[in-house]
This record gives sequence, C-alpha cells and structure tokens, in this order.
Amino acid sequence: MLEKIIESIAAEIRQQDDWGETAQYIPELATVDPKQFAISVCLADGRMISAGSATKPFSIQSISKVFALVAALGRVGNQLWSRTGREPSGTSFDSMVLLERENGRPRNPFINAGAIVTTDALLCGRPPKQALAEILGLVRQMSGSNGIFINDAVAASEQRTGSRNKALAYYLQSHGNLVNDPDLTLGTYFHQCAIEMTTEQLAMAGRSLAGLEGAPRVISLKHVRRVNALMMTCGHYNGSGDFAFRVGLPGKSGVGGGILIIAPKVASIAIWSPGLNHYGNSYAGTRAAEMLSKATNWSVF
Ligand code: GLN
Repeated sequence: MLEKIIESIAAEIRQQDDWGETAQYIPELATVDPKQFAISVCLADGRMISAGSATKPFSIQSISKVFALVAALGRVGNQLWSRTGREPSGTSFDSMVLLERENGRPRNPFINAGAIVTTDALLCGRPPKQALAEILGLVRQMSGSNGIFINDAVAASEQRTGSRNKALAYYLQSHGNLVNDPDLTLGTYFHQCAIEMTTEQLAMAGRSLAGLEGAPRVISLKHVRRVNALMMTCGHYNGSGDFAFRVGLPGKSGVGGGILIIAPKVASIAIWSPGLNHYGNSYAGTRAAEMLSKATNWSVF
C-alpha cells in the first residue's frame, strides 16, 4: 500500500517540467543536476520504503542544524536559549535584518545566525575537529551507519564564497554572542553543512526524533518534543508556514535539496531533489512531501 503511494509520487515527480534551481551561491552545489529525486520512508515496524536515487549521497546542508542542535542540547541544555530564541523569523535563512533589531540574539537555531551560535556552543574552546567528530559521530549513531562523511570540496567552496555567513558571525561577535574565533566557528559550521547522506541514511537518522521503536536514544523526550516544535515552526525559514499548511509535519530543509520530515510515532521521512523554490527549500521535495501527507493522512493536524 505505502509502496504504491511512494512509487506513484516518484512517477509524478519524474514527469514534472519545473524542477527549480540549485543553490547558486555555493559553486559546488550550483553544478548539481536539479532533475534528481529520492524518497525514503522509515516506518515504526522498522521497514524502509524508498524510490528514486535513495542510495546516492547528497549535501545535507541546513539539515545538519538539527543534528548540531541535538548535540548542543545534550551538551549545554537550556543554556542555549540564553543565546538564541525559538520564534519563527519570517525571513530568509541568511537574513541579517532581525539580528540588528534584536541585539545579536538570533530568532531561532535554524536560521544561519542561530545555527552559527549553536555550533559555537558545541565548539566551546575545543579544536573544530573534535566538535565535528561529535556531530558526525551523532549522525552515524542516529542513522546506524558508519558510511557518512564530510565533503571537503563543498565545505571549501562555501568557505570561499560565504561572505554573508562571515558577516553574520562577526556581527554576532560584536554583540558578545560568539565565544570562539569567528573563523573557527564558521569553519566548523561549513564542514557540518557539508556532511553527505543518502535519503535512506537520513530517514534512519530521523527515527529518534520520530520516537520510533528501536531508535537510538540520543536525547530526552523533552528535547525531542522541542526539536520537533522548532522544525515545525522554523524548519523552512520564511516558508515554514507554507510547509506546515501544505504538509502538516515537522520538517527541516537544506539548500542541497534535502528535507527531513518527522511523522511522530509513525515514520521518519527523507526526500531529496536539488532544485530549490524561492525560499531555498527543495521544489520537488516539498511537492512530494505534500503528496505523501495527503495520501497517508500523516499530518499532525
Ligand atoms: N551552508 C548553507 C549556508 O550557510 C546552509 C543554508 C541552508 O541549507 N539553507 O548558507
């Protein structure tokens, strides 16, 4: 039954004419063929159902912010909220506007400014390699796979062109909201964003957040609920309301075209298609998520 639904979603996506445009500001991502698609659904009974290029690794980009948040909540707990808020921003992921108005306290941990603060909290004076090993170790543990790596070329590509993130980091520093050297924090952040995963691995990694049986217990239930709440309200930046309206599930997107979606107690879903809509979220991925939610009735509303 679900196999049929997934197959028909993949078939419908394959026929679409418009695929959106890949992230142009990261040269390594700009050249990826936008006409690719993969979907994996991990169910409560342990079954994994996939269609498309589900074993092809892609750049998870901002989806890594979920894993960094899980790690940071485990490490510093509620202290994190003194440095970042938990309100939707209504602005693009790399926006600067509210940061000035709100004295260097980012609106939430999923916009870039908030994610840079989260990574800074994880770094806490350690060499970046150690913080990255912690994030990568967590991702591997959550997905039950050791075959997950950082693509250094993607990290270097963003490091060369990431002027806006540099501006955000130095602005945070000017408000005393960055503990480490901005370049060290940014280097860690760019590398965490350059983690590559397949949709199968990503769907596996989401099991802990969906509360599925057999998932590794990496954070408390309280934090699981909070991460899901933030994914629902902030996971798609200024497209978060639209995603909640169309899909009705907590989700986190990345400019690599991936989306991690949580159907609490029911399924963990990963979708990938690298062409983006005007919010910087996967165009086909959002369409597929909407179709899946409609066909399965998995919306939490
Ligand atoms: N690495 C990207 C950036 O910082 C992540 C953005 C995203 O995926 N939305 O701009």
